[in-house]
Amino acid sequence: MKYNLIIAGPCAVESEEQMIKAAETLKKLGISYLRGGAFKPRTDPGSFQGLKEKGISILERTKKEIDMKIVTELMDARDIHLFKNIDIIQIGARNMQNFPLLIEAGKTGKTILLKRGLAATIDEWIKSAGYIQKQGNNDIIMCARGIRTFETETRNTADIDAIPIIKQKTDFKIIFDPSHSSGKKELILPLAKAAIAAGADGLMIETHPFPEKALCDAKQQYNLDEFKEFLEEIDPYLY
Ligand code: PEP
Ligand code: MN
Repeated sequence: MKYNLIIAGPCAVESEEQMIKAAETLKKLGISYLRGGAFKPRTDPGSFQGLKEKGISILERTKKEIDMKIVTELMDARDIHLFKNIDIIQIGARNMQNFPLLIEAGKTGKTILLKRGLAATIDEWIKSAGYIQKQGNNDIIMCARGIRTFETETRNTADIDAIPIIKQKTDFKIIFDPSHSSGKKELILPLAKAAIAAGADGLMIETHPFPEKALCDAKQQYNLDEFKEFLEEIDPYLY
């Protein structure tokens, strides 16, 4: 794997300056996939919802300037025309069973990053991927991101077992997102190690140039120096 399926970048696209700064540093570190949400699924309708169309333009300009592959979430099929220059379309946990959305995303023929639903079984998740496959698109990356349990110490409970199960039951690649799984940056490294040991093909890590100023998920985002240290620590475990 080494770094070829490590996706890193801020939770949300907030400004061009923020994305360029993140991209420059991440690219220098050998990362080729940059994430950042332009459309954000937020629990509270009063909170920052993403820059939407403007956020996509920022991602496009960042891609042009820094030459990285872009991963961003599609929440509504009516926005799909904005995703022409996006390399990987993310379907977020809350939309894992939004079947019309899966169908439209599948039809683009682009790589689809399908996150596991907060309370979805592995069987339901695989069946959701089936909606994408039915459009003739097998370019699917599954993303385990923790599931909801009675535990309150972490944002979600790490579903590391999903990694070998998806490997055994499907031909899909599977990556792990320790940022959304734990909700705490101090848990990212141990969970990432566990995911690699369990056979993950990659990782998705939230990284922000100024996490303390982040408009969402501030507690789970590394700053760029912390991300660099993380890469050094995880490197011996990568294959
Ligand atoms: C995200 O990756 O930006 C996100 C919202 O994650 P999830 O859908 O897993 O909650
Ligand atoms: Mn986030």
